Amino acid sequence: MALRLILLLFCLLFCLLLPGVLQAAPVAIALHGGAGTLTRDKMTPEQERVYLEILDTAVELGHARLQAGAPGYEVVRQVIRLMEDSPLFNAGFGAVFTWDGRHELDASIMLGESLRAGAVAGITRVKNPIEAAYAVMEASPHVLLSGWGADAFAEGEGLDLVDNQYFSTPERARALERYRAARVGSDSAKFGTVGVVVLDAQGNLAAGTSTGGMTGKRWGRIGDSPLIGSGTYADNSSCAVSATGHGEFFIRWQVASDICARVKYQKVYLQAAATHVIHQELAPAGGDGGVVAVDPRGNVAMVFNTEGMYRASINGVGEKVVAIFSDEPATGSGVADDG
Ligand code: ASP
Repeated sequence: MALRLILLLFCLLFCLLLPGVLQAAPVAIALHGGAGTLTRDKMTPEQERVYLEILDTAVELGHARLQAGAPGYEVVRQVIRLMEDSPLFNAGFGAVFTWDGRHELDASIMLGESLRAGAVAGITRVKNPIEAAYAVMEASPHVLLSGWGADAFAEGEGLDLVDNQYFSTPERARALERYRAARVGSDSAKFGTVGVVVLDAQGNLAAGTSTGGMTGKRWGRIGDSPLIGSGTYADNSSCAVSATGHGEFFIRWQVASDICARVKYQKVYLQAAATHVIHQELAPAGGDGGVVAVDPRGNVAMVFNTEGMYRASINGVGEKVVAIFSDEPATGSGVADDG
């Protein structure tokens, strides 16, 4: 009799807990394609449609792979490769020109589980810079390689190499002409970096960023994108962040790691931490740009102080945002009590 009762209780408990056990672990993704002076009057409806389409494709691809159980860093690499191969963004094909009429590319990747990271700065021959960053993490004892050495390392690792002119597009060439004439970056050419942050089904965070830097850069200038803690950061105990904007400010304010530190030590929600850093720290100093971020519960934040940021996300409960301008409804989304 007692045994039957115990069995009955056990069955009851099992039935109550089963839905929770079967519920898939949350996955989430957020990505950006650069921030800047993006307003509707500066874009044709056709241009807007093309951007929204590729942002949507990228976020859906990443989300489907996460749902299928792919490791977060694989998803970061795959989605960034897709964006690097598109001339719409200032990363890989379509990267901006340096003052000397060349292309020097920066990229980084970081894993939240182990804090392992890899990055390259000022590379000139690797078709997909994010792959060079990943190779630095996987196959070298270092975190950051630069210039000819990074190119040589990538060649040794068997990565796809291209001539430097491969990255050129007429639109970026015109932006350089305008920059040389006026010494200011055109709105569309100034920004356009790409970045992806994810929470995978194993509960791990990852972040990656890739860029051509800023139009007309000189003297081997390196921005925030390949600098761990500035443009990219991931730590399972807080969040994953990828930044875009005026790199010099993101370096000095250590934007990516500052957001994660606030989450970790101040115990503030992701949206609040990102909003504070972008609007209360950077904006008053004159630092233009924004971030995408995700936390271990699948909360997503997409925060910027410019007129727009190419962005897309699907949070831990499956809510999707694909947007460009600042007047579009949601710029971040919460899973629990985060808002
Ligand atoms: N942050 C990049 C840099 O300063 C540029 C960008 O995000 O558009 O190199």
